[in-house]
Amino acid sequence: MKLPVYLDYNSTTPVDPRVLEEMLPFLKEHFGNAASKTHAYGWIAEEAVKQARSRIAAMIHAEEGEIIFTSGATEAVNLALKGVMEAYRAKGNHIVTVVTEHKAVLDTCRHLEKNGAHVTYLPVDENGLIDLTLLEKSISNETVVVSVMYVNNETGVIQPLKEVSEIVHRKNSLLMSDATQACGKLKIDVRETGIDLLCMSAHKFYGPKGTGALYVRRKNPRVALLPIIDGGGHENGLRSGTLNVPAIVGFGKACAIAMEEMEADAKRISGLRDMLEAELVRTGKTFVNGDKKNRLYNVTNISFEGVSAAALIGEMKDVAVATGSACTSAVPEPSHVLKAMQVMDERAFSSIRFSLGKFTTEEEVKFAVGKMKEISEKLREEK
Ligand SMILES: *Cc1c(COP(=O)(O)O)cnc(C)c1O
Repeated sequence: MKLPVYLDYNSTTPVDPRVLEEMLPFLKEHFGNAASKTHAYGWIAEEAVKQARSRIAAMIHAEEGEIIFTSGATEAVNLALKGVMEAYRAKGNHIVTVVTEHKAVLDTCRHLEKNGAHVTYLPVDENGLIDLTLLEKSISNETVVVSVMYVNNETGVIQPLKEVSEIVHRKNSLLMSDATQACGKLKIDVRETGIDLLCMSAHKFYGPKGTGALYVRRKNPRVALLPIIDGGGHENGLRSGTLNVPAIVGFGKACAIAMEEMEADAKRISGLRDMLEAELVRTGKTFVNGDKKNRLYNVTNISFEGVSAAALIGEMKDVAVATGSACTSAVPEPSHVLKAMQVMDERAFSSIRFSLGKFTTEEEVKFAVGKMKEISEKLREEK
C-alpha cells in the first residue's frame, strides 16, 4: 500500500495508464497542430481531436459540433456564463444560481454583478438541496440563464436536474450545469435531462489536467454564445488558441473508458464509501453532511465532533483528504457549502471530505478508518 493513502479524488485523479498510453504519441511523433491544413502532421492531429470530440459527445449524448474544448471546467463556466450574458443582452441581465455552487460559478457571477448583472443566489435546505418552488419564483422574463451544479464537490449532493430543467424551460430561460463532479461517474444525457450548457473537466475522472469542455446545445433551442478569448477563430470562433491535442486525446480516452466501466466502478466504489462511512459513524460523535438519498457514491463529508479538521489533517500525514474550510485566507472560513446547509461553524470546522476513486482499495479504506479513529480520539483527549 502506497502512503499517504489518497482519498481526495474530488480534487483531482491520477491519469489512467490507458489514457497516458494513448496520449504519448501525440507528445512525440504526432506533434502536429490540429489547425494545420496543409500537411499530414496537422491532419493526424485533427483526426485525433475529432475522435476525442466524438467520444466526449457520446458520453453525454450530445453531438460532436456541440463540444467546445477549454482549459478545464473553470474556463468552461466562464465561457458559458459570460458568453450567454453577452449574447442575450437584449433579453435581460439576470442570472439565477445556487449558494453552494463551486467558486468557478460564484466568482464568475460576482464578476458579472460588478458589470451590472443581477444575480439571485438560491438557498439550500439542511440536506443541500434547492427548493423548486423558490426556483420557479426566482425566474423572470429577464432571466438569461439558470446555473445549477449537477453534483456538489464537497458533499456529493445531486440536484434534481430534470425537474430543474422543466421549470427553467417553462419559464423560457436557459439551463447551465457545472457537471464537473458528475461527468465520468454518472450517466449523463443532456437531451433527456434538458441541459443547454454543461461544463466538464478531464482531470476529475482519470484524464489529464488542464483540459475540459463546454457543451453548447445546437437545437431546440440553439444556444447563442459570444467568446471570451479571441484570436484565430478555433472552435467555431468560440475559443481561440491552438488545441492541446495530447490532453484532448487523453480526455477522449477517459470518456471511452468511463462509458465502459462506469457501472462496475460505481458499484465497487460505493461499497467502499459505505464501509468507510459506516465505520466512522459507528465510533459515534460524527455527523454526515449532505442528503444521503441524493448523493454521489464516491464521497462522504463527515464532521468529527469536538475536533478541528485542521488539527486532524495536521496529524494525519498518512491519509490525503480535504477539509471543507478554505485555508487559503489568513483567517480560515468555514465551507460556504456547509454554511449554506445551516451547519454550525464548529461542526463545519470539524468536517472532512473523503472522496474515493477507482484505484481505492479495501485495505486503504481500513487503514484510513484506523488512523481517523486513533487521531480523533487522541485530539479529543488532549482537549
Ligand atoms: C474541480 C471543479 C471545478 C474546476 O475544474 P477545473 O477543470 O480544475 O478548472 C469546477 N467545478 C467543480 C464542481 C469542480 O469539482
